[in-house]
Amino acid sequence: MNLRSIVQAVEICGLCLVVAFSCLPAWAQQDFSKVEITTTKVADGIYMLEGAGGNIGVSVGVDGVFLIDDQFAPLTEKIVAAVKAVDEGPIRFVLNTHWHGDHTGGNENLGEAGALIVAHDNVRRQMTVEHFFELWDQKVPVSSEGSLPVVTFLDAVTFHLNGDEIHAFHVAKAHTDGDSMVHFRKSNVLHTGDVFFSGRFPFIDVYTGGSLAGVIAACDVALELADDSTKIIPGHGPLSDRADLLAYRSMLQKVHDTVAPMVRQGKSLEEIQAAEPLAPLVDGWGGGFINAEQFLGLVYQQMAK
Ligand SMILES: [Zn+2]
Repeated sequence: MNLRSIVQAVEICGLCLVVAFSCLPAWAQQDFSKVEITTTKVADGIYMLEGAGGNIGVSVGVDGVFLIDDQFAPLTEKIVAAVKAVDEGPIRFVLNTHWHGDHTGGNENLGEAGALIVAHDNVRRQMTVEHFFELWDQKVPVSSEGSLPVVTFLDAVTFHLNGDEIHAFHVAKAHTDGDSMVHFRKSNVLHTGDVFFSGRFPFIDVYTGGSLAGVIAACDVALELADDSTKIIPGHGPLSDRADLLAYRSMLQKVHDTVAPMVRQGKSLEEIQAAEPLAPLVDGWGGGFINAEQFLGLVYQQMAK
């Protein structure tokens, strides 16, 4: 290889790096070496891990380790270490709540290490096609073969593990078109995936079938399952309870009831933005990675379709 081709190779690698990073939403473009994984005990044998990206649910016990979501590939080693700190058992299953890279990024590493990756049919389908997030002007390439879920389901699947019934079930067209929530029936714990962004405006992936009405309907399913002592692991945000979910659902309903009539009247996004319909909600809900303007834009785009 002469000097010219070495320079070209380096340039191409640099480009690959830029492309690889541009696949992630802006909030995910960070230095993973600085990320620390924190572990919160949720119930006996159930933990929540926080690092970068979606919250991870962990079930440990005699039957081995069951994971819900796995954040980003560069974090796998740290995630595995955090799991090992609570249980030595092998990671046998990973259930993806939906296809986004901050929930499926560790699939390939964990699959290679022996875990079986499970998800709704549409998670695998969405991972096999290219996407474009207009909101961040970012392309999401097709996922590698090794990161795809090996077992997929249409409605629901139950894992009989660690003394619990871990029931994963699909909720239609909510955050995406392939969301699952995971209910630990005996331990009274619910992982909502990104249907629930606790205490903040959510990202609704209107590019792959998500909708505000669908998120509200999925919240209702979760509220029906939960009681006052249910521990709720949201897709993003701190460990929560039914009251937190109810407050979030009320916020979403307010947004729906304010914006939907304006869209029906044929107002443009610019006209709706000028009326600042989400302004009264910014104080309580505007602190996440989706601000009021972005949230309004997503809601408008989906409603005006
Ligand atoms: Zn998501």
